[in-house]
Amino acid sequence: MRGLGAAVVGAGASGLAAALGAAGVPGGILALEGNGKPGRKLLATGNGRCNLTNESIAMDHYHGDVRSAAPFLNAWPAARVRRAFLRLGLLTRADAEGRVYPHSLQAAAVAEALLSACREQGVSLECGRPVERILPVKGGFLVKSAGGERFARRCVLACGGKASPKHSTGSGYGLARSLGHTVTPLSPSLTGLQAPKKFTRPLKGIRCRARVALFQKGRELCAESGEVIFGDGSVSGICVMNLSARLRELGAEGLELRLDLLEQFSREELRGYLQALAEAHPGRPAGELFSGALNLRLGWELVHWMGWDPDRPLVRLSPQELDRAAGWAKAVPIPVSGPLSWEQAQCTAGGVPLEEVDLETMESRICPGLYLTGELLDLDGDCGGYNLHWAWATGFTAGLAIQKEWEAKA
Ligand SMILES: Cc1cc2nc3c(=O)[nH]c(=O)nc-3n(C[C@H](O)[C@H](O)[C@H](O)COP(=O)(O)OP(=O)(O)OC[C@H]3O[C@@H](n4cnc5c(N)ncnc54)[C@H](O)[C@@H]3O)c2cc1C
Repeated sequence: MRGLGAAVVGAGASGLAAALGAAGVPGGILALEGNGKPGRKLLATGNGRCNLTNESIAMDHYHGDVRSAAPFLNAWPAARVRRAFLRLGLLTRADAEGRVYPHSLQAAAVAEALLSACREQGVSLECGRPVERILPVKGGFLVKSAGGERFARRCVLACGGKASPKHSTGSGYGLARSLGHTVTPLSPSLTGLQAPKKFTRPLKGIRCRARVALFQKGRELCAESGEVIFGDGSVSGICVMNLSARLRELGAEGLELRLDLLEQFSREELRGYLQALAEAHPGRPAGELFSGALNLRLGWELVHWMGWDPDRPLVRLSPQELDRAAGWAKAVPIPVSGPLSWEQAQCTAGGVPLEEVDLETMESRICPGLYLTGELLDLDGDCGGYNLHWAWATGFTAGLAIQKEWEAKA
């Protein structure tokens, strides 16, 4: 049976990369996209700037089946992704932390580079066509969408994960299962954490810098420094989002964040500062103890959380109490009960196990001729360009493997 060279299900990051990698195979490539437009999520990435890779693709920035992924990612340094984009006509630049963006800092430029190249290379694209069923048949697959049923010799499943459902619904997991794959438990990753409203509501909207440590049952497990954002019932910010990626391994029981709000000072230095402050301004109320060091509302709430009367004058605070206040500001305890919802997540933890895929080609070990890419697989990265890097690397690998297979037969 003739038909398409390959059908790519999902025209997001990895699907567009796969389509370009395979472009030119006989029968052509058709990318079927469920949304009204291709690459919609790309436009939202990196706050509209698209952090497309990171100069340091170290495995400690990944979670899930890290051991299987390591040799694959070692063969895909950031330079390889940047070269691939340069070939598409896109200049990139790295910031001081190694995060790589399009030179224009416009996510739209990344989508445009991919879509222009698809047009130039004859990749067909149909949008508003969610694929409902993929049926393996002799020599290929019947791919059924609202646009009808197509025969394709190869099929790339590039449907993304469940995070941010307005961009990708998670339907890829059902399709993968229907083709014989398993899916490990899924949970929202790269999201804020749920915290009691009694702590967070009065601070809603406040942003501050902190070292944030994640504790479980009294033991520090990991920590990150960065901006923390308080919401009504949540704590977020990039450093908290990165800690959320650890929840899958840890479970949500007995978790607590401890915020060091004055990282650059030791507890002793801070105690000295508070002591001097109390001596110089004995009549000030305790509620203003941190007014010279922290956001005013945050400082006031800290005093409140310690259970102190905020109107008590500083002169009445003992050296032990000032020491306790210094310790408190360096380890503010906030219990957290789990990640926020899929709507607020940037990535999915869990997915199709990497052992079910040949990472040289991304071809399924279970369903020959099927290729799986991107977030659908059981690997998720930290904030910083790691997830898009994985999407490009797996997408191009799948596409190039389809191309090579055809060349070998020709
Ligand atoms: C707000 C936000 C910001 C982010 N910022 C960054 C960032 O700066 N850097 C970074 O590295 N990562 C970022 N990410 C994560 C990154 O965007 C994803 O991990 C990456 O896009 C995954 O690529 P993918 O190809 O697997 O899936 P996607 O890019 O999600 O593409 C999947 C596509 O498949 C389509 N689809 C799904 N099911 C079907 C179906 N049945 N039929 C047809 N089409 C279907 C979807 O509509 C979608 O277009 C961000 C995520 C979000 C939500």
